[in-house]
Amino acid sequence: MRKKNKIAILPGDGIGPEVIKETYKIINVLNRYFNLNIQTKEYDIGGIAIDKYGIGLPEETIVGCEKSIAILLGSIGGPKWNYLPLHQQPERSGLLNLRKKFGFFCNLRPAKLYPELRKLSPLRKEIVSNGFNILCIRELTGGIYFGLPKGTKKNGKNKYAFDTEIYYEFEIERIAHVAFQIAQKKKLRITSIDKANVLESSILWRKTIEKVSKKYPNVILSHLYIDNAAMQIIKNPSQFDIILTSNLFGDILSDECAMITGSIGMLPSASFNENKFGIYEPAGGSAPDIQNKNIANPIAQILSLSMLIEYSLKKPKISRCINKSIKNVLKKGYRTLDIANDKEKYITTEEMGNLISEFLIKEYEKNEKNVISKNI
Ligand code: NAD
Repeated sequence: MRKKNKIAILPGDGIGPEVIKETYKIINVLNRYFNLNIQTKEYDIGGIAIDKYGIGLPEETIVGCEKSIAILLGSIGGPKWNYLPLHQQPERSGLLNLRKKFGFFCNLRPAKLYPELRKLSPLRKEIVSNGFNILCIRELTGGIYFGLPKGTKKNGKNKYAFDTEIYYEFEIERIAHVAFQIAQKKKLRITSIDKANVLESSILWRKTIEKVSKKYPNVILSHLYIDNAAMQIIKNPSQFDIILTSNLFGDILSDECAMITGSIGMLPSASFNENKFGIYEPAGGSAPDIQNKNIANPIAQILSLSMLIEYSLKKPKISRCINKSIKNVLKKGYRTLDIANDKEKYITTEEMGNLISEFLIKEYEKNEKNVISKNI
């Protein structure tokens, strides 16, 4: 009997349900043609969960996720819930609690500029003529966002505030292993980013990365200071394969990398815990400004599914077929509004989902039939 691949689907708010709907079309093709036995069940999170249950992360959602092989998330939040106190708002009470509950310490954000879309990049043509493909690997549960003590105090009349950047060796080691394993498998170079000329935590970061690298002698490792890295990404993004960095630096650099692709609707992400359990979601938010207009780009969501197929279902060849079908749709000139050259000529969210499904079937028929069926 074929193994059941249970996925918890959390559509969430805003454009989340719209782009998730397109992802189901891909899942249907994967089940029918690629012999993946994916079973899905939907659960509420974020604003919609607050409306139904009064909390952003209901117990039913947690249990559903625990019973699944991976989580596919749409997006969370919107102006409707802005009136709530901060800790009750959808992102905090839903998404941050979910991340905390499962201990997702490692965040992967690929920032790929397709040659077909290079006009979207705010960088000059000659800098991005070959496109680029950077995988940002960010530590997600340590560092200054969680370090204690933090607070605001008074010294006489002078008010001051402080945070603590703290990293345990084990926290650096575990994310380094994830990065080196990916680099080894995909034959990629790693650039580790820190501020080891100033910060104690960065000195430990660099030493630990060096130590872990000894176990992966085939992987090329280099180090950059954060200030230089921020410049190099703009000057020559194609020099990077994997950027490995801390929570704070990763927060900033992953957005910089996203920005230079010029298309938030194209960017997926994945986060993992120590058991390699993963959550997959678009890098963008719930885009309330375009909600219910059938103009959202579903590609970030479909690429998030593709990452799930690669990392949680361990079917990299099938994931490559999905990616290739997206590339072929773009090559043929099809664009949603956000990535359209001509703002008069664009296809809808639903049309983009249909086209990617059709191209995925072609991908199956054309190239991969034999290879894929042998590798199921
Ligand atoms: P956003 O990413 O939702 O939107 C920024 C811009 O990008 C908007 O113009 C939007 O239309 C566009 N955009 C985003 N995704 C798109 C897509 N798939 N196709 C086409 N265009 C797309 O960021 P924001 O406006 O700052 O936040 C809106 C809401 O989303 C807020 O409530 C915020 O808290 C929430 N948010 C959620 C997540 C998450 O669920 N992980 C992440 C970021 C923001």
